[in-house]
Amino acid sequence: MKLFLALAVAAASIVSLGAQAPAATKAVDWEQLRPEILRHYRALVQLDTTAGHETLAVDYLKKVLEREGIPTSTFALDPARANLVARLRGNGSKRPLLILAHTDVVGVQREKWPVDPFGAVEKDGYIWGRGSKDDKPVLAANLVTMLMLKRRGVPLDRDVIFLAESGEEADTAGVGINFMVREHFPEIDAEFAMTEGGGATIDGGRVTEVNIGTAEKLPARARLVATGTAGHGSVPRLDNALIHLGAAVDKLGRWETPMRLNDTTRAYFEKLAAISSPERAAIYKGLLDSSGAAAAQKYLREHVPSHYSMLRTSVVPTMMKAGVGANVIPSEAEATLDIRALPGEDIETFYAEMARVIADPAVKVVPIPPVRPPSPASRLDTEMYRAMERVAKTIYPGAAVMPSMSTGASDQAQLRAKGIQSYGIGPASTEEDALNYPAHGDVERLAEASLYPFVRYVWEVVTEVAAHK
Ligand SMILES: [Zn+2]
Repeated sequence: MKLFLALAVAAASIVSLGAQAPAATKAVDWEQLRPEILRHYRALVQLDTTAGHETLAVDYLKKVLEREGIPTSTFALDPARANLVARLRGNGSKRPLLILAHTDVVGVQREKWPVDPFGAVEKDGYIWGRGSKDDKPVLAANLVTMLMLKRRGVPLDRDVIFLAESGEEADTAGVGINFMVREHFPEIDAEFAMTEGGGATIDGGRVTEVNIGTAEKLPARARLVATGTAGHGSVPRLDNALIHLGAAVDKLGRWETPMRLNDTTRAYFEKLAAISSPERAAIYKGLLDSSGAAAAQKYLREHVPSHYSMLRTSVVPTMMKAGVGANVIPSEAEATLDIRALPGEDIETFYAEMARVIADPAVKVVPIPPVRPPSPASRLDTEMYRAMERVAKTIYPGAAVMPSMSTGASDQAQLRAKGIQSYGIGPASTEEDALNYPAHGDVERLAEASLYPFVRYVWEVVTEVAAHK
């Protein structure tokens, strides 16, 4: 109920924005649009678009867009895993804006679900279903934005390109963003992009924090391979590969890699300090001040590892493999390290530094070829970022709006690597809901009341950045 009050306040402030906004954004009757938003969103959640079935979503989107006179093109490396592009043309005075979302969802274990995971069941104020958070709210918001631009005949300074891409979650064959970037880049080339990778937090019934994704770390994994002399388990040997591997994993697991802030993380911790308890604020401010940084890092390492990871290239041992029998000393032992590099990290130098930390010629660092390119952080001083910040403050009054760097990886990496300034968004959740019903979790759901302001957010940003004024 508190949430609904907050939304009523948000709705009131939209009206005031409308007073200075261009004609295209005036008089959108969001109340009246709700059933249509919900219908498309639920229809998309009801499609089981786990890897290999993405064309189901493409068929739906094609039908909806073309019925309203928006032409579409499909691009498929695998016919069952097609991508769809639709473009509304502007006057060409500015370069295009790309709004994209992935159509695929991760798999489900049906026995864990209290409802049909592809039913888009409405219960307790939530829409339940796989993809209800990841990524069908963005897909539905982008779709509705295209329909509204077309219906209202909004004159555009830049083309607005809609991309529904396959294979974001599992793309070993490269059917989604890799295929589009490699084979059809002119279809999606843009100055700015907006897609999943941000979010908003509801606390005490209102949105208190909005994160705009501007950067992400790069998976730059490696294997450690230790070699030694094979032999009988009854005879101890100093060159036992397991002993050398164990020591190397221990050293790297405890290694405090250098801390490095970028524009995004510096702004993020500054803004977080401004809205945190005095105790936490002191920690975040400590990071920004060389005298307090060591204590602040120690605190985050112990208490907020996700923030600790944002400060540095991280090295996390995740797998070990060795041995064939209890009485056999193997000649080789290996471990896998999930390394997540900060934007701009010189990864070759970093691997060499790892070898220096290990300091053992019996252990080699073997890089695993990356699946995504290194990507620079997107800028905070662009027309797009400023519009996203401004609209967030209007739709979620009183919320702190901050750039954020994901410690995970997304399809924005491929776009940023091609020079597109790409920004992440997402609907609002309480921390509790994000924890208990997350993207990829056993059960996934989205508060229905979060869906509508999110669609409005996408619409307002797109019209602000692309509409002719
Ligand atoms: Zn996703």
